Amino acid sequence: MWRLREGWVRLPIGVRFLWLLLGVMLGLMTPLLGVGYLFVQRSLEAQQQLVQRQRLEAVVSALERELATLLRQVQDYTVWDDAHTAISRRDVQWIRRNITEWLPQQFHYDFAVVVDAQGAWAAHTAGDWAWLRQTAPFQRAMRGVSSAGLHRRGETIYLLAAAPFADESWSRPTAGALVVGRTLDAPLLRRISQSAGHTGGVGVEPILSAPLPTSPVNGGGTPSPPAGRVGVGATNLLHDSTGQPIAWLTVEPPRAEQAWLLNALCLAKQYLFVFGGALALIASLTMVLLLQSQLRRFSMAIQRLASGDWQARVAYPARDEFGCLARAFNQMAQQLQQAFEAQEQQREELLAQNEELERVHAQLQQAHQELATLNAELLEANRALAQAAVTDGLTGLKNHRAFQESLHSAAQMAERLQQPLSLVMFDIDHFKQFNDTYGHPAGDELLRQVAQVLRESARAYDVAARYGGEEFALLLPNTTLEQAVQVAERLRQQIRAIENPHAPVSASFGVATYRRGTPPATLVYEADAALYRAKRGGRDRVCVYQPEAA
Ligand code: GH3
Ligand code: MG
Ligand code: MG
Repeated sequence: MWRLREGWVRLPIGVRFLWLLLGVMLGLMTPLLGVGYLFVQRSLEAQQQLVQRQRLEAVVSALERELATLLRQVQDYTVWDDAHTAISRRDVQWIRRNITEWLPQQFHYDFAVVVDAQGAWAAHTAGDWAWLRQTAPFQRAMRGVSSAGLHRRGETIYLLAAAPFADESWSRPTAGALVVGRTLDAPLLRRISQSAGHTGGVGVEPILSAPLPTSPVNGGGTPSPPAGRVGVGATNLLHDSTGQPIAWLTVEPPRAEQAWLLNALCLAKQYLFVFGGALALIASLTMVLLLQSQLRRFSMAIQRLASGDWQARVAYPARDEFGCLARAFNQMAQQLQQAFEAQEQQREELLAQNEELERVHAQLQQAHQELATLNAELLEANRALAQAAVTDGLTGLKNHRAFQESLHSAAQMAERLQQPLSLVMFDIDHFKQFNDTYGHPAGDELLRQVAQVLRESARAYDVAARYGGEEFALLLPNTTLEQAVQVAERLRQQIRAIENPHAPVSASFGVATYRRGTPPATLVYEADAALYRAKRGGRDRVCVYQPEAA
């Protein structure tokens, strides 16, 4: 069941529509066509009934004419003088020869009966004629009135005519009456209907039930026609002379006409089904094509929308279901377009913001680089400044302040490591004189030469400093006094070896070693004291601090 449903849903809409239409056609068109067919059938039958009714009326008229003819024939005989005379004489021979035997032979009557004025005596051809007394024509004839009419006896319908025997001028009394009768059998009926121009079938069916009341006043009604006679044929009631219905007269169309009617109905059936089906098919195909074309329009618009064409709309001004769909679609497309445009605008704004941010970021990066450069320059300047703060500008050695700081830290280190610490201080001899003699620039040059000697002879952890003016200091960590004296002596000799273009150079040295527990300044004081002693001792020599000498 599910698969069937799925298969159905997957079918193209046109095919589904056709299937549904087929179902509707079978369910609805067939009854409709049936009703149409019945309508056609009824119309044809109604027309046929009309024709039949006319035929029937013509046959009835012919029947009435036949009765009139019968009556006229009877009347011709009843005004015959010889007949009158013969009846008056009761000349049975004559009556039989000339009336009751001759008439049936001449006119094909079934019987002829002659009675006297009292109705008692009769000359007749019918063996049993007593029943004739009950008939209306007989009774009228006995009253001097001639008449003709129909009469039913059992299943036989008779045409009866009766007239009183009288002369043309009615100068003599009535001698009796003549009654003739003919059975309304099939050949007679056929002849009568043919005389009315009807070539189809004709029949008479006696009403065997009790005579029905004919007046609607006393609650009666028209008797129903015999079964099987309704339809293409037409029926009419036949009455006897008293007005009692006695038989149904039926006419049927000629066989050719019946065949034509059947053919016409058959053709109508075929045409109805073929044209109805074709019409439904054409209408449905048109409908399917219409639906498909509309759906194609919608599908194209949706595809355009899906591919990003926000201008896609469906132009469908009609206010039907497709119009509703088109309006809903257009509204949706417009909302999508607006949303897209708003999104685009937002995106452009974001892009602009992003560009601005990138620009600011680039500026910041540039500023950062500039700051980094400045910072590096500043660090370099600081470093140079710091270097300058601890360096002597002329010689490049540590200055006085840096020496003091180094002295303190070296003393602390010596204390902590329990190591010796010694200090060599020296002063260039007669420098003032040199300056005065060769000029201050030459003095500066000499100071640089001495500093160079000091720098080259110092170890990595020794501290070489310009203590002030032409006085230098060499702090020697982890160096005993003896070792320091050796260093001083070697320095003295190296200074002596300086090749100065102006004059030989010498310097005086004072050496002291650090004593634990004494302030660092004491070491300087003691080295300086030793230096002073070297000056006093004649210069160009190395003196060790001696406490007693101080
Ligand atoms: P002594 O042998 O006793 O040491 O005698 P001296 O002449 O060397 O001693 P003094 O202290 O009297 O002279 C020091 C001189 O050093 C004085 C000064 O002009 C000179 N002087 C100090 N600093 C500088 C300097 O930076 N450059 C130059 N060219 N001379 C300086
Ligand atoms: Mg000096
Ligand atoms: Mg000096």
